[in-house]
Amino acid sequence: MNGSRITNVGAIYGQTIECDCGKVHHIEPRQVIYRDAAWTRLPVVLSECTTGRRAVLLMDSRTRRVAGKAAADLLRGADWEVCDVLVPDPAAGAWPVCDDHTHDWLLRRIEGADVGLSIGSGVMSDLGKWIAFDLDLPFVCFATAASMNGYASANVAATINGVKTLVRARSPRVVLSAPAVLREAPYELTSAGLGDILAKSVSSADWRMNHFLFGDYYCRRSVSLVAEIEPLYMDRPESVRQREPEAIAALFHGLLLTGVAMTMAETSAPASGGEHLVSHTLDMMSSLDGTPHDLHGRQVGIGTVLAAELYRRIINLESPEFAPPAMKIDREFWGGLSDAVESHYAPKRERLRSAVEVLSRGNAWERLRQEVEPLLRPPERIHNCLKRAGAAYRAEDIGCSPERLLRAFLHAHEIRSRFTVIDLAHLVGLLPQAGAEIIETWF
Ligand SMILES: [Zn+2]
Ligand SMILES: [Zn+2]
Repeated sequence: MNGSRITNVGAIYGQTIECDCGKVHHIEPRQVIYRDAAWTRLPVVLSECTTGRRAVLLMDSRTRRVAGKAAADLLRGADWEVCDVLVPDPAAGAWPVCDDHTHDWLLRRIEGADVGLSIGSGVMSDLGKWIAFDLDLPFVCFATAASMNGYASANVAATINGVKTLVRARSPRVVLSAPAVLREAPYELTSAGLGDILAKSVSSADWRMNHFLFGDYYCRRSVSLVAEIEPLYMDRPESVRQREPEAIAALFHGLLLTGVAMTMAETSAPASGGEHLVSHTLDMMSSLDGTPHDLHGRQVGIGTVLAAELYRRIINLESPEFAPPAMKIDREFWGGLSDAVESHYAPKRERLRSAVEVLSRGNAWERLRQEVEPLLRPPERIHNCLKRAGAAYRAEDIGCSPERLLRAFLHAHEIRSRFTVIDLAHLVGLLPQAGAEIIETWF
């Protein structure tokens, strides 16, 4: 029964859909191969992507052990010319990052490839997609953890000049993984995947709100892609912690489909709203003061509780007053990143003004509430799911003090032009005043 639910949602890969949103969606990846020893399919998969025989393989020292070396050996045995690039750790014990330096380092090492293959999770997948786009190569990914929703998407959140920036990339033609590989992945990665996918309710609501306020494009179908399998990881989160095969499979496909939704929408909006900005801000604070940050999805889970709490409080307001906030960034807080942050924030000023104007009209507030409410989940449900799954649900779980989390919460809206529930909270006067109390309540 549950297995067939996963088969049902998997039927979308490779389809062309004439959608009622007005677009024709060509769904990438074209194929997802999730089975035991999936890497044995690589020679065939790569041959279907190109007539050439030169493959560039990206991996790090960990993913080389898990599947990278086996994949390279297998491909060489099948007459592929393999250039395997081991992306080095930036420091002892630190994991590679997806930033402009690593990107340029890779470009200098790769020449004459016909197809790109990444073996790893977030960072390897992002670097591979980014490089494949720049070199115009077909791209394939072997996923080693159900850790984030970016596998299938056509963009990456790379750090450029110190700021998390959305960059065009190439979505994979084929994603492969094996149940045993995902089951054995470090649990912090799997728990990060859960945090990333739980963001969907608030990010979808943020997207819907942008559609309502500014007429931004919105695709209902992309938002509902994971509805069928969501209960498999959300209703009994312990099953994720116990790495039950169906829960892990559902989480993996849920993450892939969330990436598919981003590609369908041609924006990260379906999967990245205010909750993601909290996580990105924590990353940027780390680059400013050198304090380590946690994995993306683990921070996103915490950000999702915050965003869900903001939505609940705002939705309950009967007739709020809307006023544009200060509309300037905190240069003292951002220090050396101020100019970069300002360039991202500048386009939002117009959006803030027009949001106030739209929301102050007639029954606009009532209509907005009706549109976003069905998409939302209560913060307790998110918090409880993270807790029962053994994921990060306290500030200390992401190595962060409540004070630091509060600073991120109060500055997160400054880093992007995208309008989110955090901006709405500023427009109705909920933030910054209630920020400390919200952090204290939950963390
Ligand atoms: Zn994410
Ligand atoms: Zn659509």
